[in-house]
Order: sequence, then C-alpha cells, then structure tokens
Amino acid sequence: MKNSDSIRKLIRQASAKLAEHGIISPERNARMLMAHAMSMPEWKISMHQGLPTEGQYETFQHLIQRRSQREPIQHLIGSIGFHDLEVRVSRAALIPRPETELLVETALEQIKESEQDRDSIKLLDMGTGTGCIALSMARALPKATVWCADISKSAITLAHGNARHLGLEDQLHFVQSDLWKAFEGKEIQWNGILSNPPYIPTQEIQKLQPEVRDHDPILALDGGTDGLVYYRALAIEAPKWLSNDGFLCLECGKNQAEPIIKLFKKASWFAEKVVRDYNNIQRVVVFRRE
Ligand code: GLN
Repeated sequence: MKNSDSIRKLIRQASAKLAEHGIISPERNARMLMAHAMSMPEWKISMHQGLPTEGQYETFQHLIQRRSQREPIQHLIGSIGFHDLEVRVSRAALIPRPETELLVETALEQIKESEQDRDSIKLLDMGTGTGCIALSMARALPKATVWCADISKSAITLAHGNARHLGLEDQLHFVQSDLWKAFEGKEIQWNGILSNPPYIPTQEIQKLQPEVRDHDPILALDGGTDGLVYYRALAIEAPKWLSNDGFLCLECGKNQAEPIIKLFKKASWFAEKVVRDYNNIQRVVVFRRE
C-alpha cells in the first residue's frame, strides 16, 4: 500500500488484511477507520475523489494495524453512538452495547407509565461505566436528576467527562462507590435504580472475543462463579435505597433472567416486566417490591 493509492483501493487492501485476522465486517471497519483518519463522516468516504495526505495515510495504516490485533473499533475511534448520544469510550469502562439501549427504553417507559417524569424524578445508575445509561436518561428527562456510581475511579472520570461534553453535567452526580458503600448514612432514596452489572461467569471470560476479553475492564465483566453475584447483592441492598413506588431495572445475560427472577422473589421482589432483545434473549427485567 502507498499513499498515492485511491481511497477505494486502500480500503479494499485494508479490508483483506482485517479479514485475515478474523475481523467481522472487515470492509465496514476499514471504511470507518479511513473516515476517522481523514476526519470525515463515513458516508462521504466512498464518494471522496482526493487522496489521503501522507499523515492521514500513516494514521490509517496504524489504525488498521491496531484493529488487526483485535483492538475494538470503538477504542480506535474514541466514541460510539448510544441511544441518541455520542459517548466517549476508553479502556476505563465497558464499551456500551446496543442491548443496553433497551434497558434505557424500558426504564423510560416505566417512568412515562407512572407519569413521574412530570416531577423531578431521582434515578441511580449503579455501575455507570461510560455513563451511557445515566446520560441517556438525563437527556430524555430534562427534569430528572441522575446519580452515577461506579467502583472504578477512572470510569467515574470518563463518565463525568462525557456529561460535561454533552452538556448534561447539571443533571448528574458522580460518586465513586462500591455498590452503596459511599452512600451509607445518607438520607437518600431513588425513584428508579438502573443497572447493567457485570454478569459474565468468571470461567467464561477466557472464551470471549479478544476485543472484549482483552480490552473491556475485567471489573466490568466478571460476575463471579455463576455470573450472578451482583444480582444477589442488588436484591438484598436495593430495597433500602428505593422509594416505595420505585422500580429496579436490570440488564442480564443469556439464560440469566429466570434464575435472577427466582432470587429476587426470595428477597420479596416481583418481576413486573421482562423484555426480550432482537435475538429473542430475555435481556431486561423490571422489578418492584412486593
Ligand atoms: N453501565 C455501563 C454500561 O451499561 C457499564 C456496565 C458494566 O460495566 N457492566 O455500559
């Protein structure tokens, strides 16, 4: 490859290299990285007549090299579209997944149904990561206040940066906390608690795609031996922090909804709603107190 090659040819060659390294949708990846290297929207790339500059060419080659080593495309580009926001990502937190948009939609429906959004509703995003859930809720509910908690300081810094960048800082509070530890002794209750906790069983982590296994923080993935440790903790600890009419909205992994519903029942919750994702997997569960 050389920088006098046309963009089309460079993308074709890069795409072949990515395919050799097992990247799914190699051409789309190559196009996205070319667009990023040339600071252009992706749709313009296929029509662009000019050649990349020397610098843009070097950047593109470097990005393709990193992608072929299975660095996630989102880390190379630095952000991802989530719900109706552009969220910055880094190694500090889990890359937001499209399934999690379903959690946001489900929580919004709960609030609409109860007409609570007219008042100043208080929400908590437990294990906020990039802040994608909290930020989307805040954007959709301009009168809401959303607390973001995460055990990881670097995740909190990332989420806070996202809030600033998106102009949502006024609606959000950031707290570094291992579950509710940092809130102990405080008189606060939320109308809704949302969480996409780590839910991969420890022994499954090695089997994940390298993009996930080697680049998402282990803290954000590891849900203990059966993947359910955080659900057990939430079932026990959340009641204290939830107002009487409040709801808990949780994302879960494949085949986990049933055991989770069972363990929540034991702790006097009932599952009000179970939502399936586009792969027909039971992905989001809404709980309330019995
Ligand atoms: N709340 C963040 C997300 O949904 C992080 C979740 C996590 O780290 N398990 O993307």
